[in-house]
Amino acid sequence: MKNLKNLKVLISPERLEERVKELAEMIKKDYGHKVFCSVVLTGAMVFFTNLMKELKKINVEVIYDPIKVSSYSGTESTGKVNLELDMKQDIKNKRVLIVEDIIDTGLTLKYLKEYMLRKGAAEVKICSLLDKKARRKEPIEADYVGFEIPDKFIVGYGVDYNERFRDLNFIGYFSEE
Ligand code: 5GP
Repeated sequence: MKNLKNLKVLISPERLEERVKELAEMIKKDYGHKVFCSVVLTGAMVFFTNLMKELKKINVEVIYDPIKVSSYSGTESTGKVNLELDMKQDIKNKRVLIVEDIIDTGLTLKYLKEYMLRKGAAEVKICSLLDKKARRKEPIEADYVGFEIPDKFIVGYGVDYNERFRDLNFIGYFSEE
């Protein structure tokens, strides 16, 4: 059962806050005072908002555009990526930083990276809060990773299970799966 009672903390709010600050510093080092982000809806919203606040504090301007894809049904990846909402801004010759919640099989990010390069982006890099390395099927890595995590189904900090648990301020997993 997936309910609050058997939810355990994997990453605390304090660790998340600290790591997001570090990621912002790394991004500033590589991008300077301006970065264009493509935010993958809906799971990455909380992470992205906090990352943007930290970037702002260190004088990095963030321009962003959301994109929405779907590949999951419940706790299972369907193996097929659907583009549900496209970007509005022209990314031709731009450096794009994709901001994502989790890289798991790698299917979603492989799709997005190729899609943006086809649209003419000069460069596409990936910033993912979480990385489930053990489950990778596609040979793709994020350029910036918050935390490597074990092969557990996680929720919280924007990430859902059937639209629930996005509002938690930590990353959690269910003790009975
Ligand atoms: P991939 O295409 O890399 O297999 O999966 C990426 C997407 O799968 C993530 O953006 C996320 O939406 C979803 N996903 C992967 N692992 C988890 C998980 O542990 N919990 C939840 N809620 N979603 C996950």
